[in-house]
Amino acid sequence: MTLGLAAYSAHPEASRGRVHAEPIEPSKSGRNPFQRDRDRILHCAAFRRLEYKTQVFLNHEGDNFRTRLTHSLEVAQIGRAIARRLQLNEDLVEAIALAHDVGHTPFGHAGQDALNICMKGFDGFEHNLQSLWVVDELEERYPTFNGLNLSFETREGILKHISRKNIQIHREWLGPLAKRFDDGLQPSLEAQLANIADEVAYSNHDIDDGVRSGLLELDALNDTELWNSRRLFVLQMYPNLEGRRLRHEVIRHMIHLLVDDLVNQSKKLITDHQPQSIEDVRNSPPLIAFSEPIRRQVMELKSFLFKNLYRHPRVIGVTQEAALQIEFLFEYFLTHTNEIPAHFRIQDLDHPQRRIAHYIAGMTDRFARKEFLRLR
Ligand code: MG
Repeated sequence: MTLGLAAYSAHPEASRGRVHAEPIEPSKSGRNPFQRDRDRILHCAAFRRLEYKTQVFLNHEGDNFRTRLTHSLEVAQIGRAIARRLQLNEDLVEAIALAHDVGHTPFGHAGQDALNICMKGFDGFEHNLQSLWVVDELEERYPTFNGLNLSFETREGILKHISRKNIQIHREWLGPLAKRFDDGLQPSLEAQLANIADEVAYSNHDIDDGVRSGLLELDALNDTELWNSRRLFVLQMYPNLEGRRLRHEVIRHMIHLLVDDLVNQSKKLITDHQPQSIEDVRNSPPLIAFSEPIRRQVMELKSFLFKNLYRHPRVIGVTQEAALQIEFLFEYFLTHTNEIPAHFRIQDLDHPQRRIAHYIAGMTDRFARKEFLRLR
């Protein structure tokens, strides 16, 4: 067993391994399978393209806003910090966090919804499944197989959710990955953690970006318990603090509070259920969780952000325009399949839609926009 890891964590030497046989992990490189997974993700093209993909604000709206890339880095940072305190596998959490959004379309959720509508009747578009598609099939980096050939545990974490229908359709590809959904099991604690670290990251950085953009009023946030309790706490120490220093200090304390709560509540759940292995974890209820009062505060904050930021007329207006560009590109390539790059070229002429979805989903905001302007 790896030193410093709890019995219930994902131990690299006990990994269920990779789909394609590779030479024995060279011990002279000093990297275990999850460290190699993380490095493969970091070096792949889909990861680099995250730099030019929208988180909430379109990429060209300002240089200080989060992009999918900086969001993913923040998820990895928060995830690793919590993993260390729970004696979970930091490398695996980091690998999952860095890869969790590689299947996202350009233009954020509007782009995703638009592509899903285009794919209606062709099994739809799911971004978690698309992330798995990227790491399993679409990246071309190795001589003898498609994708990055990541470990089972990393792929399990990347495929957070999937619809029943798509499990049936892709059963052969998913193989043992489908079992969790069939049997109603949980993924590793590392996967559970990466999922909640995502929520901690965006709930906090979207406040920061929302206020910076001028769409959110700092004072309006006082209606939410989580923000207000940390604001009052900060003002006790720095009564005259205001503006961006106040915003940053309150956000720092919100992240501290959420991380501490997650660690304490998860420790409690782990003590209650006594998992002795990753298999025990899979057969337990979710063990990485907020306490009930904090969970309620997080929900309140998320619905505040939904109403006041994600559904803000300016965000909706800009993203709706972007969605139209996705729809245009989809229709265009459907009638001009010979203009799709060779490695996306249609093999099965009956179903060109999936290949087009792969191509469009991989585009950055600026590439999609450039293509739209060129082809319209
Ligand atoms: Mg995310």
